[in-house]
Amino acid sequence: MRTQYQSIPQDITPEEALQLLKKGNFRFINNLKINRDLLEQVNETKDGQWPFAAILSCMDSRTSAELIFDQGLGDIFSIRIAGNVISENVLGSLEYATAVAGSRLILVLGHTNCGAIKGACDHVEMGHLTGLLDKIQPAIHAETTVTKDRTSNNKTFVDEVARLNAMHTVEQILSQSPIINDLVKKGKVGIVAALYDTTNGKVNFYDTKHIISVPVAEDNHLRVA
Ligand SMILES: [Zn+2]
Repeated sequence: MRTQYQSIPQDITPEEALQLLKKGNFRFINNLKINRDLLEQVNETKDGQWPFAAILSCMDSRTSAELIFDQGLGDIFSIRIAGNVISENVLGSLEYATAVAGSRLILVLGHTNCGAIKGACDHVEMGHLTGLLDKIQPAIHAETTVTKDRTSNNKTFVDEVARLNAMHTVEQILSQSPIINDLVKKGKVGIVAALYDTTNGKVNFYDTKHIISVPVAEDNHLRVA
């Protein structure tokens, strides 16, 4: 049986990579997931990997990228950290995924009802968590529509901060990684923000301005690994 891993071409466009994730989430929320033989995929991927996307998402136990996008072994890089914030290590991982391993899309995925976002909204301070939550403060400042109860008690506020935090993270990746910025400007890599709804499993995508279409002829030989 032909599996999804085998059928994903190694030279897809960033837009096509985005469509693969959208279709995967559609299968997930409609209970149509592909019947994979994971042990067979272990064998198929034993000599290498060609993950078409790199997903930076929260560590939340309900938001596993492979599950909510219905992907198998070898399909995606998954970087997970509370509040899907960046650091030197995260940027280095994303640069490896795109510039070395050839992933065509970076997805920054926040989610509703996020504990890290709630902690940041409530200005929680505890050990090393304090510095992590500080990275979410720009999204809280960017949220200007809610004037009352700007705390974790306000679900609308919390979820809007989560959305803005994902979009802010996209801009930070572009401003702090010249390597990724260059790949995006050349249309070789796309980067988008999205928000996963923990009540129904749906991923809502935002702002695809950083997916630039380039003619296929100009887009060869990206992969070096
Ligand atoms: Zn979270």
